[in-house]
This record gives sequence, structure tokens and C-alpha cells, in this order.
Amino acid sequence: MVLAVEADDLWIGYLDDNDRNIWIIHDASFKVSMGEIYCIVGESGCGKSTLGKAIVGILPPHAETRGVLKIVGETVIRDRDHYYRKVRGRIVSLIPQNPGQALHPYLRIRDQFKYVLRSRYRGIGEDEIRERSYEALRIVGLDPGEVYDSYPHELSGGMQQRTAIALALSTGSRILVADEPTSSLDAHLRMQILRLLERLNRELGLTIIMITHDLLQARKICGRIMVLYAGHIVEEGSVEDVYGNPLHPYTKLLLDTIPILGSRKKLKTIPGEPPEPGKYMVGCPFHPRCPYRMEKCLIETPPTINAGEHRVSCWLYSRNGPAGT
Ligand code: SF4
Repeated sequence: MVLAVEADDLWIGYLDDNDRNIWIIHDASFKVSMGEIYCIVGESGCGKSTLGKAIVGILPPHAETRGVLKIVGETVIRDRDHYYRKVRGRIVSLIPQNPGQALHPYLRIRDQFKYVLRSRYRGIGEDEIRERSYEALRIVGLDPGEVYDSYPHELSGGMQQRTAIALALSTGSRILVADEPTSSLDAHLRMQILRLLERLNRELGLTIIMITHDLLQARKICGRIMVLYAGHIVEEGSVEDVYGNPLHPYTKLLLDTIPILGSRKKLKTIPGEPPEPGKYMVGCPFHPRCPYRMEKCLIETPPTINAGEHRVSCWLYSRNGPAGT
């Protein structure tokens, strides 16, 4: 079976002023199947957007990458120009946090479709542009007659986000990377966009990779989930596994921060701060904040333990660690 995304020992970083690599993503290995909804969750600064950018092929030119990243079986990380030409906007597209990042403020929506479709299909005619744009706008639940000739500022926030999704769909992308796609919307519109993504997955079989800090959102929409901490995958599994039986201390604490509807209790927070992005940590990256840390956690990187599809990176579950001895 061809996977939508496959990463093996993937490192992503940037060169600092002293030409040293500052790694933002460390040794990431994961697979996303075609047609699944996969969530990448973690606090801000954990590297989730960097990972999303790598998948879509919009890392800045000074980014350093190592390891393997494949999109629908094509190795893309070794030859980034080749990657940009072959898959970005054709197979994989980004739905940005703020639709303003996808929509040019001074161009009518019809001109934005023209630009996107002409870069994808050379020689495409006016009629086909209109046809494809109308179809994409209808799929996302918009009235093309109302939207096509408008400027972005004439549309509501929800309509702008739907239009940004329609632009991505119009080029035939089968993988959508949605980076906090609802963060600029109110609660009602947020639900609408989540339902739309779910419908696109169900009806068109699109692969959705959602990047979010919102665990409630992730639980509503995702099939599988990756928990990222300081650029390290600390836990991965089905939503049932990760929410029903969280293993990593960070995941447990993160789940404790979810507000309970109707409760007057003060919201819980995780004590301490995550390390600065790219800061080199010896041992487990979570050890300064972990209530279960052991001596070993301060000096050795924990191994990844697999229990079927559920995996965790923590010494508590290792046969070689204190919990298993
Ligand atoms: Fe905590 Fe140690 Fe597990 Fe890290 S490896 S999460 S410090 S118990």
C-alpha cells in the first residue's frame, strides 16, 4: 500500500550564526496512510508547524534536513527542488492558520483561482478555470456566484477559510496539511470547518494532516495522533489509545489541561516551560518538567517502545529502565 507520508529518522533544523545546526525536529519516524485523518499535537514551539512545512515543501531555503521523507512514495527530502515541482500544490497543499496567508488581499477570488490553476495546468482556458473553481467552491459549501467575483475582505472569516480550502482542492491535491485551520475563527465556525474537513475525508477520501494545540479538536476529528514535545515524537497511536490509555507523562499532563464542560475548577496547566526551540537537551527532553523522572532520564535518550500501533518514548516502559528491572 502506498502511504501518503512516510518519515524515517527525519531531522529538520536551521543553521545558526556560527554555522551550527539547530535541530527543531529530532529523529522523527512516522507513517500516514492514504485517506486517514492524522493529527500532530503539542504546545506552541514544539516543531509541529515545521513538520507541516516540510511535508508541504515550504521550508525556508536555509533549512537543513536529514533522513527520509516520502510523499506518496516519492522521496522528497533529498532533492527539495524536484519535490517542489512534483508534489507541492499538485499532491499536497497547505491550509494555513489564517486564510489571509492563502488569499491575496487585493485580488478577486476568481483571479486567485486563475493564478493557482494556471501554475498547475499550463494552457488551461477560462472556461475550465471557471468550471474547476465553481466545483471546488461548491464542494466546500460556498455559493460560487456569491464568492467568485468577490475580494477576500468581502467574505466572512469562515468563507475565507473555505475559499482557501477550495483553492487547495482545485488543483487536485489529495493530501491537505491543515495548520491550526480554525484558530482565527469563533467556536461556531470552528466546528463548521472541522465538519468540512471530516466530510472531505469521508466523501473524497482526502488525507488530512491536522496540526493543532487543541486536544479537544484532535479528538473530534482524528483517527490517529502524534504527540510532539520539543521536536521529539513522545507518543503516537489511535485516538482511542492516546486518549483512553495515555502512556507518556507529557500526554497525561496535556490531557489533564482539557477544560471540563460546566466545571468551575481552575484550569490545570503543566508546570514549567518547554525548552526553547532547538535547544539541545541531554537525556529525555521532558525531564525538567516530568514528575516521574529518574536518574537515567537525565543522561540517556529514552527508547521508543511499541505496543502494537501505540508507541511511546519513555524510560518508564523500557525493560532496560527502572520500571522494567
Ligand atoms: Fe519522564 Fe523519564 Fe519518561 Fe522522560 S523518560 S517522560 S523524564 S519518566
